[in-house]
Amino acid sequence: MKTLATIATRDALLTALRDAPHPLSTAELAAALPWHREQVVHHGTWYHREAEHLKLVLCAGEFDVVDFRPYAAHVYPHLAALAATGQVGQVRVAGMRTAYWTAAQQPGVTVGQLDAMWSA
Ligand SMILES: [Zn+2]
Repeated sequence: MKTLATIATRDALLTALRDAPHPLSTAELAAALPWHREQVVHHGTWYHREAEHLKLVLCAGEFDVVDFRPYAAHVYPHLAALAATGQVGQVRVAGMRTAYWTAAQQPGVTVGQLDAMWSA
């Protein structure tokens, strides 16, 4: 069963891909997603530190409220699931580890277009 968070994440990914003028990498898609707020068990100063992907909202002693920024490893499984059902397309460029994604209804992207994007 899909959770509400899963549905919201996949909707946001699809919207970002439909709005993008060119294929997006997994990391670019992660950066396009909104931060999400979670309540986590207070763990020393772990959630109190300065970090690119987290922001402490409040410390209530036993728990912390933290805003998290989605990262590539978090969104990749969602993209793979969307690709498996044909909702997004994956574009791979030979010799590159980075995966690029397109909304399924967009026309196919040529390697030449990706090259142009890469060197832009
Ligand atoms: Zn705390």
